[in-house]
Amino acid sequence: MIIVLKKDATEEQIQHILEKTTKLGLKPNISRGVERTVIGLIGPEDVLRVTPLDVFPGVENVIPVLAPYRLVSREFRKENTVIKIKDGVEIGDNKVLVIAGPCSIESKELTLSVAKKVKAAGAKVLRGGAFKPRTSPYDFQGLGEEGLKYLKEAGEQLNMATITEVMDVRDLELICKYTDILQIGARNMQNFTLLKEIGKLHKPVMLKRGISATIKEWLMSAEYILSNGNFNVMLCERGIRTYETATRNTLDINAIPLVKQLSHLPVVVDPSHATGVWNLVSPAAKAAVAAGCDGLMIEVHDNPEEALSDGTQSLLPYKFGVLMQEIKQIAKVIGRDT
Ligand code: PEP
Ligand code: MN
Repeated sequence: MIIVLKKDATEEQIQHILEKTTKLGLKPNISRGVERTVIGLIGPEDVLRVTPLDVFPGVENVIPVLAPYRLVSREFRKENTVIKIKDGVEIGDNKVLVIAGPCSIESKELTLSVAKKVKAAGAKVLRGGAFKPRTSPYDFQGLGEEGLKYLKEAGEQLNMATITEVMDVRDLELICKYTDILQIGARNMQNFTLLKEIGKLHKPVMLKRGISATIKEWLMSAEYILSNGNFNVMLCERGIRTYETATRNTLDINAIPLVKQLSHLPVVVDPSHATGVWNLVSPAAKAAVAAGCDGLMIEVHDNPEEALSDGTQSLLPYKFGVLMQEIKQIAKVIGRDT
């Protein structure tokens, strides 16, 4: 880390900093310039969390050199992480993995019917919520274990991997029996108890970005999972809350290339929740592929008008089919495949 000293820092203050940092196990290197004096410190930056050097007299600023999300960072691992979900289903390689399905598992019939159509169009992972994080307690909360059964059955029948959301640490064991990927929803991005428990498993996880979370906070949440031992983490940009109310959220397209630079983990984009409007989903999905995402998650419903959740943002299966064809073309242009 680098300590920038105040212009008027006294020799006594400088000596105090040098002594203190040496005691902390760091190796200080002082560089006296015309304008400013800076101290470069070699050693574990963790001391910064315990001893806030920026409050020392004479210190203007302390600049950490390493990212606080160590295991998640590109510094830690140069090559892209590839997560094997099941035979023939991977994310993080050259292919763009598509996850699709209804917002909620509503019935056995709907799940299977949508699954067949999205699979035929090229989706490899089937999504569907059985435990739903609804804003209103009066809205459909999901079918619970019954829904998980339908999801698993459809997945097995069509040889698709499955993903579903875990809202509560108490449901973790149950959900693990039914699904290939655990989804941590936006509202739970900073549920640290849940993150730690999922970190102890080896199951693939998709960590959604919190509604108002910065990229750093999102990556720190991922660090909770990796630091507990689970490196099978994909990140999902699903739009953030901004001042704009014309759309449900604002898709942070910058996050895709930025997170790919900062981290080795695969990045998924969810244009359904990012836009909240079905006719914006395809353009946003195409932009996300062009920007370099490793995967997409898209809500599809046979009859959006009647959907028990998120009908306004659900694509009809034939529209999803058209989108899949378009994505193929875009992926090709940037040297990727679907
Ligand atoms: C979902 O994927 O169904 C969902 C609830 O998403 P988010 O957590 O991003 O709102
Ligand atoms: Mn939804």
